[in-house]
Amino acid sequence: YSGKKTGQAVTDSMMNMKVRDFQSIPIVVTENMMVYDAICHMFLEDVGTLFVVDKNAYLTGALSRKDLLRTSLGNKELNKIPVHIIMTRMPNITYCFKHDSLIHAAKKLIDKQIDALPIVKEHPDGYEVIGRITKTNITGAFLSLAENHDL
Ligand code: ADP
Repeated sequence: YSGKKTGQAVTDSMMNMKVRDFQSIPIVVTENMMVYDAICHMFLEDVGTLFVVDKNAYLTGALSRKDLLRTSLGNKELNKIPVHIIMTRMPNITYCFKHDSLIHAAKKLIDKQIDALPIVKEHPDGYEVIGRITKTNITGAFLSLAENHDL
C-alpha cells in the first residue's frame, strides 16, 4: 500500500462494486413445504438461508439455520409443519436490488444482524427473487478489492 493515489483508487473501486457483480444463486422453497423437507433442502443446496415464495413465485419469507434448528428442538412432527408457520415474513424481510452498491447491502446485513439478503425484481403485485447476497459474498468482494490493488 502506497500513498494517496492508491487510497483513492481503492475507494473508487469499492464504491463501484454492485450487488449484481458478487451475487449467488438464490435457493427458494414454497410456503407449503414441510420443515423436514426444508432442512433437507438447506443441506443439499449447501446454503444458510432459504427464501420462501408463494404460488406466484413472489417473496413471502426467509428461513435461517436457527429458525429450523429452533423448530426441530421442540417438535417431533417436522413433517407436518409447513415453513410459513415458522419463517420470518414480509413485510419484515430486508432485500436489495441488483443495481444497489455492495456497501449498501453490507450495511443492511450488519444493521439487521442477518446473514443473507434476497436480490429482488419489483413487479406490480410482488417481488421476484432473482439472486442472493451473503456475508460470504461480501468477504469475497473484500478480498478481490485487496487483490486487484495488490494490497
Ligand atoms: P441464524 O438465525 O441462523 O443465525 P440469520 O442471522 O441470517 O441466521 O437470521 C436471523 C433471523 O433473521 C432469523 O429468524 C431469520 O428468519 C431472519 N432473517 C434472515 N434473513 C432475513 C432477511 N433478509 N430479512 C429479514 N429477516 C431475515
